[in-house]
Amino acid sequence: MKLRMLFNLILSCSVFLGAEIRECNDVAEVLTLADSETLVIFDIDNTLIEPTQVLGSDQWFNYMLQNRQNNGQAYESALKEIIPLWMQIQQVTEVKTCETSTTFVVEELQRKGIHTIGLTSRSIPMAYRTIDQLKSVGIEFTKTAPHVHDFWVPLDQLQVFKAYNEPAYYLKGILFSGCNDKGELLLQFFKLTGYLPSKVIFLDDKQNHLVAVEKKLRLKEFTNFTGLRYNVCDEQVKNFDCSIADIQLNYLKKILSDEHARALLSR
Ligand SMILES: [Mg+2]
Repeated sequence: MKLRMLFNLILSCSVFLGAEIRECNDVAEVLTLADSETLVIFDIDNTLIEPTQVLGSDQWFNYMLQNRQNNGQAYESALKEIIPLWMQIQQVTEVKTCETSTTFVVEELQRKGIHTIGLTSRSIPMAYRTIDQLKSVGIEFTKTAPHVHDFWVPLDQLQVFKAYNEPAYYLKGILFSGCNDKGELLLQFFKLTGYLPSKVIFLDDKQNHLVAVEKKLRLKEFTNFTGLRYNVCDEQVKNFDCSIADIQLNYLKKILSDEHARALLSR
């Protein structure tokens, strides 16, 4: 009962402040919420796109990270090993949209002239490949991004993750945060471009990123914010099968012998 009262209190505070984070199981919901004064922000992995197989997925990445930590490896050290492998997979993997309507929804927002950008934890080395992956499913943020020119966000303006010390990058309508706080980066985007929408909608499958953005916006007294915790990929994350991913990883590492290659040629 006390929990229920606490929940209602938190809910009423959110409504009072005008900001809200809630669950979302259909990307098309943004079409009913966004208007011409809105900036719609999309996370990328498990929100817009996912690999066509489990290898290289967000859930695979987290499994690899957890697995190494369970075996005693430090978080930073594990991350340093897995990121290059994840990047290698991204270079070759095909992707699909998380819902069949995803591309239509982004295009429909753009057709209405509504500002849209991407905001991803992917880091700078993955920027061009990410743009190609999105293009392969028909998504291009340049169409209605509120700022045209690409730019770096300097290190001294961000809370940088110690082990990586990486700046952030804005390229073709996408903010690549790397290990930086998404909320902090969004504020820097507004500051560096001079652009400030009346309303922000942010779709992300990770609650912590939604909270980070909501928190930073609230600090600047920007409360016209709707965070949508996108849960369409939750089932896949829950049912992740590491044995399938392990086999796929073994094949990725496998180089064909000359004999095998000749055999294939002679078919
Ligand atoms: Mg994501």
